Amino acid sequence: MPIYNAPEKDFQFILHEVLKVAEQPIPGYDDIDADFTAAVFGEAGKIASDVLTPLNVVGDKQGCVLENGVVRTPDGFQEAFDQIRDGGWTGLDMPEQYGGQNMPYIMGIALSEIFSSANQSFAMYQGLTHGAASAILVHGTDQQKDTYLPKMVSCEWTGTMNLTEPHCGTDLGLMRTKAEPQDDGSFSVTGQKIFISSGEHDLADNIIHLVLAKILGGPEGIKGVSLFIVPKFLVNEDGSFGDRNGVTCGSIEEKMGIHGNSTCVMNYDGAKGWLLGEEHKGMRAMFTMMNEARIGVGVQGLGQAEAAYQNAVVYAKDRLQGRAVTGAENPDGPADPLIVHPDIRRNLLEQKSFTEGARAFTLWAAELIDRSHRADDEAAEGLVSLLTPVVKGFLTDQGYNATVQAQQVYGGHGYIEEWGMSQFTRDARIAMIYEGANGVQALDLVGRKLAQDGGKHVMAFFDLVKTFLKDNADNEALQAGYLEPLKAASKDLQTAGMYFMQHGVKNPNAALSGSYDFMHLFGHVCLGLMWARMAKAADTALKAGTGDPDFYQAKLDTGRFYMARQLPATGMHLARIQTGADPVMTLDAAQF
Ligand SMILES: Cc1cc2nc3c(=O)[nH]c(=O)nc-3n(C[C@H](O)[C@H](O)[C@H](O)COP(=O)(O)OP(=O)(O)OC[C@H]3O[C@@H](n4cnc5c(N)ncnc54)[C@H](O)[C@@H]3O)c2cc1C
Repeated sequence: MPIYNAPEKDFQFILHEVLKVAEQPIPGYDDIDADFTAAVFGEAGKIASDVLTPLNVVGDKQGCVLENGVVRTPDGFQEAFDQIRDGGWTGLDMPEQYGGQNMPYIMGIALSEIFSSANQSFAMYQGLTHGAASAILVHGTDQQKDTYLPKMVSCEWTGTMNLTEPHCGTDLGLMRTKAEPQDDGSFSVTGQKIFISSGEHDLADNIIHLVLAKILGGPEGIKGVSLFIVPKFLVNEDGSFGDRNGVTCGSIEEKMGIHGNSTCVMNYDGAKGWLLGEEHKGMRAMFTMMNEARIGVGVQGLGQAEAAYQNAVVYAKDRLQGRAVTGAENPDGPADPLIVHPDIRRNLLEQKSFTEGARAFTLWAAELIDRSHRADDEAAEGLVSLLTPVVKGFLTDQGYNATVQAQQVYGGHGYIEEWGMSQFTRDARIAMIYEGANGVQALDLVGRKLAQDGGKHVMAFFDLVKTFLKDNADNEALQAGYLEPLKAASKDLQTAGMYFMQHGVKNPNAALSGSYDFMHLFGHVCLGLMWARMAKAADTALKAGTGDPDFYQAKLDTGRFYMARQLPATGMHLARIQTGADPVMTLDAAQF
């Protein structure tokens, strides 16, 4: 059975030596020192390894079952969910007023990587609830917050997000679900939503659906979409349950992965709902939590890559095949372990340099969210808004690729279910699709975010890179291995941005034909920047003689691998972008 151990040391390194969260505390939470975070990661790591990891395979094999309108989750999920709830793990970064612990979001993101690595399907029940609770927190009335948040923060009740309909996923302006105003101030919601994660299940007493629908008589298209709270069981003023609401699960989907999470067709038949936020501003309300939700999905890509990588390393050290070309390294055995072979090492290093870089990137993005929410830091808000599609699109694509590479280390055994490697690949695949398919993330990045506020956020990113390069120009440990490649990659990104400015206005197809490459180009530069920052921290620790020199030396060497072998991909992406629209747009539809 696959193993998983939370990379606690890596989290500690990034939080305390790279981002230095204790030295520049996140407003509203000063006690985030290394002992405290180590204790949290230690406990979370135990639950992940001992409880959630063994259930991952159970969930994959059993899946969810719909019986008499109720979805039964796999054996053991209920007990594990109780344990997560009782341990207070569900509302760590939620306000104390509603039963949370008010920890920074950066801690929430670190824990969501751990739980997601161990069992993505399971973690989604809580993840969706967190997203729905965040929307109520920002847009709800006091009464709505008091009614729903304490139960959702504790996960006694769970939450869902209902956007997708059979004929529309990306283009939500086509939505047909209707909301009819009622005399008591509520709305009657009717329509069908599909692919709703955690839509129905047996883990919680109530499920609070957030549903996008169009109010009758409102504007056409996306401008007429509003957001509603539609509970499975109505809640009386004293908090007791009222009637069962008019929402049912019609069926659950059979799918490629995340079998332990129920993906439901939800039928709303005159269900009672209450407006969340303003009329016709539903997309705005949804977008409030989009940054968080998309970073959360990026973390899923990273999470599956990390779990798959850990298993591939164990296998590569254990499996004996062939001899090292430079002479036997296991002369007493029949063959050498796979890890002696350069191509296996290349494969493992591609995974390792991705996961460690991606972890730093997601934690940095989470820190920006904390600063924007808790310190009203507009620059942080602008930057994280720009980077969000990169976190989502780049990390889920690369995370999926990493799971395939981990499978490859196993040869044929990676393809056989017994070893559990194909589950990582199957589970990772969905992250490239939901929460806005990755092609749409690229569209958002190039079509919207680049030029947002006059392009000042992308300029702020370039300034950040430039400042890092300048401040560390005299650091010999960084010069050739880190600073030069980062400078070259950042130049590629700027040149691509200029290309879009010069050609994209005249011919938008010239920009959008290169949008996917741009998202990946940007992702590589972000990981390059994170590796340079990590290298600086590792070099500082090595020179000071603090901590574990092996850990820091491995960081420096892994980072150099990324800079030398992965970062040059920016040149290829730039070359593709500069070919413009022609190669992509020439064929007629009939010629495909
Ligand atoms: C397992 C699973 C769980 C899900 N969970 C939820 C959930 O909890 N709640 C929810 O509301 N939805 C959920 N979804 C739905 C998911 O978010 C949508 O499937 C996704 O947004 C894509 O929508 P679509 O499937 O309709 O594809 P389409 O919108 O038809 O898109 C098809 C393809 O075309 C591309 N495309 C579309 N428009 C453009 C454009 N303008 N430019 C370039 N490319 C474009 C897309 O990138 C995509 O690759 C889930 C889906 C699955 C499979």
